[in-house]
Amino acid sequence: MGTEHVRCLIIGSGPAGYTAAIYTARANIGPVLYEGIEPGGQLTTTTEIENFPGFPKGITGPDLMNEMKLQAERFGADVRTGIITAIDLDRRPYTVTVDGEKRIEAESLIIATGASARYLGLESEARYRGRGVSACATCDGFFYRKQDVAVVGGGDTACEEATYLASLCRQVYLIVRKPFLRASKAMQQRVFETPNIKVMFEYNTVEVLGDDEGVTGARLRHASGEETVIDIAGFFLAIGHHPNTELFAGKLELDAEGYIVTEAGTSKTALEGVFAAGDVKDPHYRQAVTAAGSGCIAALDCERFLLAAKTDNK
Ligand code: NDP
Repeated sequence: MGTEHVRCLIIGSGPAGYTAAIYTARANIGPVLYEGIEPGGQLTTTTEIENFPGFPKGITGPDLMNEMKLQAERFGADVRTGIITAIDLDRRPYTVTVDGEKRIEAESLIIATGASARYLGLESEARYRGRGVSACATCDGFFYRKQDVAVVGGGDTACEEATYLASLCRQVYLIVRKPFLRASKAMQQRVFETPNIKVMFEYNTVEVLGDDEGVTGARLRHASGEETVIDIAGFFLAIGHHPNTELFAGKLELDAEGYIVTEAGTSKTALEGVFAAGDVKDPHYRQAVTAAGSGCIAALDCERFLLAAKTDNK
């Protein structure tokens, strides 16, 4: 298979990747975008999005991502299914391998690979993953209607998911390892005002319990050492995310948490022509609209870079 040459390769298909594709396509750069492991990104695992400007009645995550994809394709972005399995950033043009075989040389790269949900790391949790253990209440909550479930975490995500689950389920246990919630005050208030959410402060999960059918409970340990078992059918993780940067370890500067480091106020990495956008470089804001804005910044930085590189080569 011959090596394909592209001017701009975008890796990732969340709001950052698609916005970068819309902008670079409209600038006649002819971007090629690889969707990656989770086409549409994390937003496809949510239901209603009410805070993305321009949708006063709200829009579902999958619908929003599909609209962004159509918008990118309308201007000629080449959106492809595939996973980047290797990358060589030693010299420009940079070489990437798709699905272990196809090779592409890219004059510039926009990395928008996002972040993924964290798990506790318990053996029992892994055993029941997909059979009661989930990191996405909005995707899987429906399966536990009128049953009892638990959510682990004390941040905005945990509170949001607990509130969502409370509208479907009978009883929701919110398992919080500290004696307080980290979530915003508004989110906390919503949790405390929901009668079927029981907040369990200073509890850690020791084991997820189950049988052949899936999860049946969880064994929790209080900070005092006392242990308790809760009967649940669903065990939801909401303990944060980690950036999808394994591919770039040792090749790009990453911070202590693994997020790509960029020059302040820009999308520029230390490597010329390599830009990062969205959650893969942003541990703080992590919103669809900030990721989209970040994708726009990367596209503009990339456009300027390619223009300057072209002038230099003349
Ligand atoms: P956070 O990092 O804010 O919270 C993670 C939570 O998980 C913390 O309570 C943390 O506990 C807990 N945790 C981490 N590891 C473990 C563990 N091993 N065992 C038990 N508990 C654990 O992540 P979020 O996903 O909640 O939020 C990320 C960002 O996204 C935040 O900035 C948030 O504000 C934002 N966000 C905003 C929303 C909105 O505005 N609508 C909705 C959702 C998220 P501890 O407190 O002890 O560290």
